[in-house]
Amino acid sequence: MKPRGWLPLLLQLGLMWPLGALSEPRLRVFVVPHSHMDVGWLHTVQESMQAYVTNVYNSVVEELILERRHRFIAVEQVYFRLWWDGVASDKQKGQVRQLVAEGRLEFVLGGQVMHDKAVTHFDDQILQLTEGHSFLYETFGIRPQFSWQVDPFGASATTPTLFALSGFNAHVISRIDYYLKEAMQINQQLQFVWRGSRSLSAQQEIFTHVLDHFGYCSEGFYWDGEPIFPHPPADGWYPNMQLPVTQKSLQSFVEAMLYNVGERATWFQTPHLLWPWGCDRQFFNASLQFSNMDRVMEEVNKFTYQHGISVQYATLGNYFQAVHAHQLSWKVRDHQDFLPYSSDLLYAWTGFYASRSGLKGLARRASALLYVGESMFTRYVLLAPHWFLDPAWGLQQLQQLRWAVSEVQHHDAITGTHAVKVGDMFVEHLSTRMEGVHKLMASIIQDRSPAHSGPEPGGHFAVVYNPLAWTVTTIITLTVEFPNVSITDESGRPVPAQFQRSKEMPSAYDLHVLTTIPGLSYRHYSIQPSRRPQEDTGEPVTSLASSRQFGLRLRRSGKQVGGSLVPVKNDCYTVFLDKDTNLMHSIWERRSNRTVLVTQSFREYHVKSDVNHGPISDNYVFTPNGRAEMEIVEGPLVTEIRQYFYRQGNEEMRPTFAIYSRLARGPQGSDGELLCHRIEQEYRVGPLETSTKLNTGRALYSDNNGYQMQRRPYRNYKSNTIARNYYPMVQSAFIQSRRSRLVLLSTQAHGVSSQRNGQVEVMLHRRLWNNDKGALGNNLTLNDTSVVHPVLWLLLGSRALTSGLHQRSGLALQHRPVVMLREMNGEVGGPWKQKAVTLPPGVHLQILSIPGWKYSSDHTEHLRTLQKGDKAKADLRCVLLRLQHLYEVDQDQVLSRPVTVNLRSVLRGLGSVVSVEERSLTETWDVSEMYRWTWSMGDPHRHRGNSSRPLPPPGSPEVTIYPKEIRTFFIHFQEH
Ligand SMILES: [Zn+2]
Repeated sequence: MKPRGWLPLLLQLGLMWPLGALSEPRLRVFVVPHSHMDVGWLHTVQESMQAYVTNVYNSVVEELILERRHRFIAVEQVYFRLWWDGVASDKQKGQVRQLVAEGRLEFVLGGQVMHDKAVTHFDDQILQLTEGHSFLYETFGIRPQFSWQVDPFGASATTPTLFALSGFNAHVISRIDYYLKEAMQINQQLQFVWRGSRSLSAQQEIFTHVLDHFGYCSEGFYWDGEPIFPHPPADGWYPNMQLPVTQKSLQSFVEAMLYNVGERATWFQTPHLLWPWGCDRQFFNASLQFSNMDRVMEEVNKFTYQHGISVQYATLGNYFQAVHAHQLSWKVRDHQDFLPYSSDLLYAWTGFYASRSGLKGLARRASALLYVGESMFTRYVLLAPHWFLDPAWGLQQLQQLRWAVSEVQHHDAITGTHAVKVGDMFVEHLSTRMEGVHKLMASIIQDRSPAHSGPEPGGHFAVVYNPLAWTVTTIITLTVEFPNVSITDESGRPVPAQFQRSKEMPSAYDLHVLTTIPGLSYRHYSIQPSRRPQEDTGEPVTSLASSRQFGLRLRRSGKQVGGSLVPVKNDCYTVFLDKDTNLMHSIWERRSNRTVLVTQSFREYHVKSDVNHGPISDNYVFTPNGRAEMEIVEGPLVTEIRQYFYRQGNEEMRPTFAIYSRLARGPQGSDGELLCHRIEQEYRVGPLETSTKLNTGRALYSDNNGYQMQRRPYRNYKSNTIARNYYPMVQSAFIQSRRSRLVLLSTQAHGVSSQRNGQVEVMLHRRLWNNDKGALGNNLTLNDTSVVHPVLWLLLGSRALTSGLHQRSGLALQHRPVVMLREMNGEVGGPWKQKAVTLPPGVHLQILSIPGWKYSSDHTEHLRTLQKGDKAKADLRCVLLRLQHLYEVDQDQVLSRPVTVNLRSVLRGLGSVVSVEERSLTETWDVSEMYRWTWSMGDPHRHRGNSSRPLPPPGSPEVTIYPKEIRTFFIHFQEH
């Protein structure tokens, strides 16, 4: 054979084998065909289906059937399921089953979407993965074993835990800090074993592969052009189509590929190279793609005996099998995450922690509603002697919301990095499906409300449900139109309550009611307008809060403040407010008898976004001359401090910012502990800054996905220091000195940073006018004019006190009791007894639901059913239960201990348990049958957690849960 022109290039690269013919290739290149299909970014899901997604699956399946060497990996199940359910013919379905069985079409990740890792909550990540995995298992009997998270902006340390518990063997990430990636390439450290959690055993570590700086795109190697939105072109000719591989151009393609391979091979320790082939929106004409690439690869392989390089089509699994078989000893990486992500010196991707704050809030409210709906429905189905509503309809409402909550976890959804019309699509999907679950909940309480003594027309029933498996004491708020009301509970006893004028609607009243509700239980209150005040009639009537007004005060900087303080207190805190400025001055915490100076202010960062004046960079301007107004509304249960902030010269208009702070008074003792130890703050707009006199060394702690905390030391950078010191806060953050800690808890994701000693700032909202061409052309501009109302809880106290309360308070905020109002019409159901479900304080009921999957939990039986072409029925007596130990190993003296729970007795209130099966995190594996690959490591003596503890006998209702463990079960309940 004639020598080729590209051979000198290989000599140049040092890749040419000098001794002539080789028996074995020196480097194996695994070309992994894939298409990155965002579930909404510039275009909606529907538009993407029309423009290219449908063609991706149609043409890829056809190509794979035609040629045995071809491979493909499929990622986003939202798209695959839309194609499978709405497009694929029976013939195509048969072909897919064949390709899956032969391992040529491989599902990786397997979630509904490729979820974001910075601003998503762990519970929602599990949900979106479970949705996709269950579909794949139900349909094909398979379970994905490799992750593919190649586009999310940064990587979280909770992801190894998530994927390890789901049965994965290896994990792929890509976008990490550019500087760190460069160092990892040079030092051949792009592959390692990652121990994401400091408390969990070796069972939760995972082999991780960071894509090199070429990422997931193979520039210059796609031939199918750019899809047309919203329709494919009639003539089949797409814009920017690359010239085909011909006899003339073949050499240049081969050269380009070998050059690329040669460069990348030096960054890895084994002679295997992962070569992702594809990019965004590729393979909608798979025939063009494969026919061109076939020629390039054949040409390369003709000369393997000379240059030692072989190329092959592969799935991700093929690649990892080869690396695993190589049996190297791998470096271990601890629980440090890869956040924030900078793609370049001036590009810190931290703005998305607060972009489209409204959608971030809606996504979490939808998730919290789903949590309530799931357990209410489970209770209803298990306990109701007769079903008044059709369980299939109820399950459908929940399944649709599961799908919508999953979808919004996509890395261009909850992140707020999508076009306006795509944002509207997410909001529409979430809102309509939330409506469905609200209807379901209303139907359940309609059926299940107990008899009530003496309801009179004109009043309301308030049905309150506590979705947590602990007794909760809290204050619920109702808005009513009349000031004098009497509230009684199930037994007709008056209930402590307080009413005050609503802060947003002057004609209405906020009614605060103190309630204690056992786990997964209901309380029922009757609310009736009262004709006269209590003193006259002796009727139980609520108390009216009194109000004190403090007029506008200038927020002068540099002035000595604190001369004239107004105290506002409950049993745990006294908050001092400065009458001279109307701002917060300090907080005294009773338990530790310590006062911490705390000030709060609103700041605005003005971003430089004019492309005509250098690179877009951030700087900030403080707005120092605003004015503040204050009102204190004080009552027996709640004291509300209403602070309004005006821009200078704008006092007549509505305030620009507002803070509503609430201190509550409840019962003494453990029942009221969480309620007492929090200062609730609700804001309008932002961002908010809280400064303290705590000596924190500028170290901030913020959470990974609401699951675990990360220490964030302040770092000085050559440029862009402010932006690069911002971190996501999904559920909590804190700063601390040696003796005190200030914890912030939130209901949605925000950006958080500590830019000075003792200071923490939360980015609540963003609005930008970006004149970058790409952003303007695609309507990506973040010109968000909405008003947001985020809520934070502040906890202040010793480290020991706050670390005990932190997690439970976070959940108490996330899953507050829901209040449903019903008009009194005299027609109510019969008497109703309920039994509570109560878990020990360190263990959280992460989910209780009827999943409704149509597969047998016996794997062999499931495969047999699939082979016969049958489908199992959804079993309504099979309940999914997931428990989570909330504490790290050394976090709390008592709460960090392992906890033993007898599921049969804990769940007695729901019915009698027939059997307990432990499952993998996404439910598709029986844990006793789940085997993951082991990877050898350089440091066998390092602490490996509690991996040596004995396993309980399978099926035992008694389970011991260790710190940070998450355990998933199918619980089978007896029929009525
Ligand atoms: Zn993407």
